[in-house]
Amino acid sequence: MSTCYLCNGSRPYFQYYCEKCNLIKRMISLHTLDRVYKILENVLMRDTTKQNNKVKLEIKKEIEDQQLKLSNSTILYDNKNDVLEELKQKLKKK
Ligand SMILES: [Zn+2]
Repeated sequence: MSTCYLCNGSRPYFQYYCEKCNLIKRMISLHTLDRVYKILENVLMRDTTKQNNKVKLEIKKEIEDQQLKLSNSTILYDNKNDVLEELKQKLKKK
């Protein structure tokens, strides 16, 4: 075991990052550094109550973005509302 380059926790010898930091790296690859940074900045630069409110707001924003993507999609889904409801339920669990 060696030291993770991001969090200074322990990491496998053959990797630069620990498992959690590798996940963060994958999120950055998927969503871009700017987006991940903006979300972290928006959520974590607040006290606990405001953090919880911000998390709910970010989730709501995520749902609205998904709804917009679905409504702009050229593919017509017969069960579009079911898909939206399923997404909302998944986000509520988080
Ligand atoms: Zn780490």
